[in-house]
Amino acid sequence: KDELLRQSEKLSVVGQLAAGVAHEIRNPLTALKGFIKLMMHSGQQFPKYLGIMKEELERIELIVSELLMLSKPQSVHLRCVNLKELTEEVRALIGTQAIMRGIEIDLESDLEHVPLYCDPNQIKQVIINFLKNAIEATGPDGAVCLHLKNDEGGGTLLRIIDQGCGIPEDKINRVGEPFFTTKEGGTGLGIMISRKIIEHHGGTMAVHSKVNEGTVIEVRFPVPDMQPVQRAQA
Ligand code: ADP
Ligand code: MG
Repeated sequence: KDELLRQSEKLSVVGQLAAGVAHEIRNPLTALKGFIKLMMHSGQQFPKYLGIMKEELERIELIVSELLMLSKPQSVHLRCVNLKELTEEVRALIGTQAIMRGIEIDLESDLEHVPLYCDPNQIKQVIINFLKNAIEATGPDGAVCLHLKNDEGGGTLLRIIDQGCGIPEDKINRVGEPFFTTKEGGTGLGIMISRKIIEHHGGTMAVHSKVNEGTVIEVRFPVPDMQPVQRAQA
């Protein structure tokens, strides 16, 4: 138990640190990017280096904006929503991106009304992160499935299922580690941030995967009146 407490304290310190670092870095980054753009349009002969510099800056910018999401207490708005509707919204949002890659996103749900007490924007972000990973892992003409049902414990189970490349056994434990990525241009922050958001909502997540067969992300949310966020508000 002590170890758990220590770990969670460490995490919140890391979160604060991340936010501080991200804020400190973002402004000079924006300034630098502006100057590079100016120079690129000046007609001088160094477009190649400038192009690389701009790409590297954009990469840092992406990491910083993902890190910033780790601690945004000012933007937490808790309310009761229908998780099915929320999932449908995300599906519509990501749908065009998926279609361009020839991937279909299906939504299967045994339920019409799935009450969840949450910050809808944060939960949307979580579903977006998992869907993006699923799409990136899936070749053209593949399908990704969102599956929503009642969990045995009375809560809700949301599964994001793909038949993509899968995750090798020796890597699966590293998934969700900050900056662990196998993608060129990946940040390795999506799953860590998603897990944090889910845990803040009293939920849990699990990753099941097999190489060349696909991946299933399981997200469990507790029954609404057992969600700690709600109890804290009451
Ligand atoms: P990123 O997407 O920037 O790499 P994430 O934290 O979202 O960072 O994911 C970390 C890593 O986990 C990915 O680089 C990939 O190797 C693996 N991964 C996550 N989701 C999937 C998936 N659906 N299929 C295969 N690999 C995945
Ligand atoms: Mg990702």
